[in-house]
Amino acid sequence: MRKIIVLGAGYGGISAAKRLHKKFKKDDNTEIILIDKNPHHTLLTELHEVAGNRVKPTSLLIDLERIFKYTKVKVVRDEVTSINFEENKVVSKNNNYNYDYLVIACGSEPAYFNIPGLEENGYTLWSMQDATKIKNQIINMFEQASRETNPQKRKELLTFVVGGGGFTGIEILGELVKWTKVLAKEYGINPDEVQLKVVEAADKILPTLPDSLVKKATKYLKKHKVDILTKNYDHLCF
Ligand SMILES: Cc1cc2nc3c(=O)[nH]c(=O)nc-3n(C[C@H](O)[C@H](O)[C@H](O)COP(=O)(O)OP(=O)(O)OC[C@H]3O[C@@H](n4cnc5c(N)ncnc54)[C@H](O)[C@@H]3O)c2cc1C
Repeated sequence: MRKIIVLGAGYGGISAAKRLHKKFKKDDNTEIILIDKNPHHTLLTELHEVAGNRVKPTSLLIDLERIFKYTKVKVVRDEVTSINFEENKVVSKNNNYNYDYLVIACGSEPAYFNIPGLEENGYTLWSMQDATKIKNQIINMFEQASRETNPQKRKELLTFVVGGGGFTGIEILGELVKWTKVLAKEYGINPDEVQLKVVEAADKILPTLPDSLVKKATKYLKKHKVDILTKNYDHLCF
């Protein structure tokens, strides 16, 4: 019996497992196992919608058993701690899984670009837990600001800075532009007190997009009073 293990049920792992199923569905000598620490696939690309309170976390979770119900892929929920390549073994806290072929698709980690203090003080948007943390932090800041009478402290509580003006950074800002207005109303705060900023190392936001789209996004954000701090933001011509 040939055993193929796919590690991680993200976009990569699911796509690999589906293709393997297609190729080996009639092969009784091949077993396909998909291991993930969660029972669901998370639509990572939509996390900003949870962070910005537009959708419920459950709307971004897809049950793995459902995805693979009519396939020969066996879904196993477990958190892998190491891989023994010499003995072809995937190891978790309580189990060992032997394999003949291994597909590693465990995802990646956020990069902090050696910026001092970023990891300790910043919030990442990399998982459902992260998105929920950001959402709760924003609500918490509005709650505190509504009770704060010192104008300087209020200003600090109501200033939100997004690090990075790539797709995810601008997507989350788009959410914040809308949601902070709703929160301001809810907590009896003047929306003009809320400050949104984006800091981008390149000389424009969305640097991989054509200039016409950069211009459009910049115009929209400026219309909503978002501070765009790029490398040469003083010279920004849009
Ligand atoms: C907020 C956000 C927005 C994005 N937007 C876009 C976009 O618009 N377009 C685009 O192309 N890309 C986007 N990306 C990037 C895209 O999501 C990633 O490139 C993609 O998710 C990578 O897929 P993957 O399968 O390699 O890993 P992941 O999707 O991260 O999946 C890894 C899987 O491995 C599992 N896992 C990890 N460690 C273990 C372990 N020890 N044991 C068991 N299971 C484990 C995890 O639970 C997870 O299910 C975005 C990413 C984020 C965070």
